[in-house]
Amino acid sequence: MVLNPSNPVQPQKSLNLNNRFQVSGQRLWQWYQHAIADLSQEQLRSRVDLKQELDWLLLEVSELEPLDLRLTPSESQQIQLQMPLTELQQLWQQRLAENRPVQHLTGTAHWRQFHLQVSKDVLIPRPETELLIDLAMDAAHNSARLQEANLWADLGTGSGAISLGLAMAFPQATVHTVDCSQAALAMAQRNSQTYGLDQQIHFHLGEWFQPLVGLESQFSGIVSNPPYIPTAVLPTLQPEVFEYEPHLALDGGTDGLEAMREIVAIAPQYLQPGGVLLLEMMSGQDKAVEALLINQGQYEQIQIYPDLADIPRFAQAYRI
Ligand code: GLN
Repeated sequence: MVLNPSNPVQPQKSLNLNNRFQVSGQRLWQWYQHAIADLSQEQLRSRVDLKQELDWLLLEVSELEPLDLRLTPSESQQIQLQMPLTELQQLWQQRLAENRPVQHLTGTAHWRQFHLQVSKDVLIPRPETELLIDLAMDAAHNSARLQEANLWADLGTGSGAISLGLAMAFPQATVHTVDCSQAALAMAQRNSQTYGLDQQIHFHLGEWFQPLVGLESQFSGIVSNPPYIPTAVLPTLQPEVFEYEPHLALDGGTDGLEAMREIVAIAPQYLQPGGVLLLEMMSGQDKAVEALLINQGQYEQIQIYPDLADIPRFAQAYRI
C-alpha cells in the first residue's frame, strides 16, 4: 500500500513543449542537492521514499534522463523545464508540507507502458496492479478456450489503467469499462484517447455489472481492482492516500470485501464458459476471497497469485 511512483525510469517523456523554461544545469543541480540535504532524518525514515519521489518529479518536469541525476552538469549546460525553477521548488514544498502525492503535483503517473493523467478523482494506479495484465495474458495464452479472447470487462476502472493494458495486450479485443464516477470515467476516456485506444474501449457509467446488462455469457475475461480496504483501516493508511485519494476507490466496507462479494457472485452470469475472472485484493484477504470463489460454485481452477513482494494479492478463477 505504499504509494511510490512506479518506474521512475520510463522511456516516454511528456515535456509540454509549449511551456518551456530554461535553467542552468548548475543552478538546478544546486537546488536538487539542497533538496536532498534538506530531507530530515525523520523524512528519510518515513514509509515513502522521498528521495525517489524527488527524482521522479525532476525527471517528470525536465528533459533529464535518470543517468543525468548522477552526473554533475558542465558549466555551460542548459536544462529545459516545464515550469520555472521557483515553481518546481513550490511543488516540492507542497509535497513535503501537505503530503500531496507527487503524482498529483504533475497530474501524471506511469503504469506499464503508459503515461497516464491522474487527479483526485481516480486512484493513482499502483505498480502491483500491473501484474493483473500479465495474468490476463497468461490466462489467454494457456487456455485453449480463451485463445480468441475478445471481450473483456474492467470493473471500477478509475484512471483507465487496466482497460488500456487489456486493450493493448489484446488488440483484437473490445473492452467494456465500468465506473460509477463520471469524473473517473472521463479521465479514463481521455487516457484511452491519448493512446488511440478509445475505439476499442466502451465506457459505461454505473455500478459493477449493472451497465453490462445484455452482455451476459459473453465475456472472455473480467478484471477488477475493486475497493478492498476495510473502512476502519482507511484512516491508518499513509496520509498521501487517506487525504488525497478517492475513498470510493479504496473503501471496501466493514470487512473490505463488499465489492469483491458482489463481483464474485455475479461474474459467472457474464463470463462465457471457460472465461476468466481476475481480482486484486489486499494482503491477508486471500483465504476469504478463495472461499468466496469456491462457495459460489460456478468457478474452477481457482488460484491465488503473489505480487512482486511475494504477498498473495490476486485471485484467478475460470467459469465452469
Ligand atoms: N492498492 C491500493 C492501496 O494501496 C488500494 C486499492 C484498492 O482498494 N483497490 O491503497
